[in-house]
Amino acid sequence: MSFDLHCHSTASDGALSPTEVIMRAASQGVTTLALTDHDSLSGVAEASTAARAEGVRLVTGAEISVTWEGRTVHIVGLHIDPHHPELQAGLARVRSGRQMRAERMSESLAAVGISGALEGAYAFAGQREMIGRTHFARFLVQSGRASNMASVFRKFLVPGKPGFVKHAWADLPDVVRWINAAGGQAVLAHPGRYDLGQMRMAQLLGEFRDLGGVGIEVVAGSHAAGMVPRFADFSVEYGLKASVGSDFHAPGEGGRELGRLPTLPARCTPIWQDW
Ligand code: AMP
Ligand code: MN
Ligand code: MN
Ligand code: MN
Repeated sequence: MSFDLHCHSTASDGALSPTEVIMRAASQGVTTLALTDHDSLSGVAEASTAARAEGVRLVTGAEISVTWEGRTVHIVGLHIDPHHPELQAGLARVRSGRQMRAERMSESLAAVGISGALEGAYAFAGQREMIGRTHFARFLVQSGRASNMASVFRKFLVPGKPGFVKHAWADLPDVVRWINAAGGQAVLAHPGRYDLGQMRMAQLLGEFRDLGGVGIEVVAGSHAAGMVPRFADFSVEYGLKASVGSDFHAPGEGGRELGRLPTLPARCTPIWQDW
């Protein structure tokens, strides 16, 4: 069995359609895949059709944007009911700020001499309401402002840089509640990306678990090898089940390939234990 419980399609900021993601997962030997587009379930229907055809077990998911203590964290919901009204309404509200934010990002890029960023970014977005930093990044690389995704984020799209616009996403208690109401499991995505020290990480994990969160990505595409044992320890200490996800977005952008992940340390309880 090969699990990959975090990836993206054109329903958010991935470059492949849901069908293409499923076909690629199958060819990489993934047997259980969660499609976890940002703040959206619009890829799920197409993905389930493709998954049946390819013999891949599909887990319905979403990766929801949260603002916690002034910083952005991502919560993955797994096995959520895509038709649940409270979840759908919550996600619609999270998505609703993206177009306004994109206009402000474009204005701030124009102020440093980069024109046409808004329409340039929209050209890469499958759905206008899902416009995000990755679409701006692709435009900036295409127009020669940076040579790859890592450098374009460093130069333009992170706090303190010209294209970054501060944004308030959903609150953590709401997001965990939506996921649980929709019958799903809430998982803290890629904890190694938040640059939190031991104390703040402990605070986040404690709050998340007390709100009803049940999992943590111990193995994530962006986790360096040394981070896996660190988050394995946290998963044991906080009684959070361990998840694994590539966070695949696109071929050839430098991110992790679907299913190409190290195995979970034996001391972790896998999130799929009772699936
Ligand atoms: P947004 O939700 O619009 O703020 O965009 C967040 C997305 O940007 C993440 O899900 C990643 O796909 C992408 N991203 C953020 N930081 C980086 C980075 N350093 N390198 C590549 N992609 C990144
Ligand atoms: Mn993304
Ligand atoms: Mn994320
Ligand atoms: Mn992701």
